[in-house]
Amino acid sequence: MFSGLYMSDPQRNRAWVELDPRALRHNYDVLRRSVGAHAGVLVMVKADGYGLGARWVVETLEPLSPPAWGVATVQEGIALRQWGVTRDVIVFGPMPPADVERAAAHGLVATISHLDALRRWADAGRRHPGLRFHVEIDTGMGRAGFPWREWPQAAREVPALAGERAEWTGVYTHFHSADSVDPSATALQWERFQQALEALPVPRERLLVHASNSAGALRGPEYAGDMVRAGVYLYGGRATDPSLPSAAPEPVASVRARVVLVREVPAGTTVGYGATHTARQPERWATLSIGYGDGLPRALGNRGCALVRGCRVPIIGRISMDMAVVDITGLEDVEAGEAATLVGRDGGAEITIDEVAELAGTISYEILTGFTPRLPRVEQERE
Ligand SMILES: *Cc1c(COP(=O)(O)O)cnc(C)c1O
Repeated sequence: MFSGLYMSDPQRNRAWVELDPRALRHNYDVLRRSVGAHAGVLVMVKADGYGLGARWVVETLEPLSPPAWGVATVQEGIALRQWGVTRDVIVFGPMPPADVERAAAHGLVATISHLDALRRWADAGRRHPGLRFHVEIDTGMGRAGFPWREWPQAAREVPALAGERAEWTGVYTHFHSADSVDPSATALQWERFQQALEALPVPRERLLVHASNSAGALRGPEYAGDMVRAGVYLYGGRATDPSLPSAAPEPVASVRARVVLVREVPAGTTVGYGATHTARQPERWATLSIGYGDGLPRALGNRGCALVRGCRVPIIGRISMDMAVVDITGLEDVEAGEAATLVGRDGGAEITIDEVAELAGTISYEILTGFTPRLPRVEQERE
């Protein structure tokens, strides 16, 4: 239970994201077992580790020896290098040309979608020996990669363009519907990817072959290739359609906020901007020190819940930038200073990140990456 009064701890005085390293390692192991012994599990740490803190994710999973780390921007990759990461750091997605030199200087691995991009990378390789790259094949995602139909043509030029200046170490595609109940779209993309692999101008064994995100990895070894690229499942997002049998992840990030005011209100009292909720009878309300300025979706107003003393209580009225109000009628002697849970577990009750996303009309990824820097990320204290 998280209801006890804490000693003052600036990190936990108002509202915070609480991180559970055991849960993160557990989810990693679930994916590793799902894909089998022949495939590795690369960890995507883009967008600051989906909002949890990339550095914390790297430090927590490094002992499990992932084959590489994945980022979305050159700046994110450079940060990993500055923290002392020596494994491959792969920048997924076409790189802005202006970033190429910095990426090369820090020994990041580029992903190539176009022969022009390969020319730029190989050129940087003159100044920075040992550069590596993976080739992306677009099998239906439509945002990056060599279109699979055009790949056999382009493939022939890759070895000569790379020359000695850049080493080709991987080839991959990205699924658009691996989370769907209907497996046919993924099967079709896989088939296109296999065709692309047949057109490789180098022995396949020389390259790391990869395709799956978390959802693909949860489908088992079928689409695992040599490596999968895991993100949201590691961080506690379900990743697949709830009707699929895959195991639910352990919650890694909990969001807690202090009760800062408890009041008995008479019938007729209104709450929040627009006064969208009115007490029908005498009620007990608690103000929580968290709002949409912290990344709590405003869409949860009059819809979402919090946990107080292990009980679900409704969020009433609109969520403000810095505060939200819950109806705790029926809960005795709740006091200012105790913690409420907006995401995560308290006692036997749980609010999942997917539940919050669904209520807010979005996906777990957007909820996780939406928690703002105002919330300190703190590792859970273990009893
Ligand atoms: C973000 C990302 C992933 C991870 O996807 P999840 O659904 O979070 O597991 C995998 N591959 C690429 C190229 C990505 O950008």
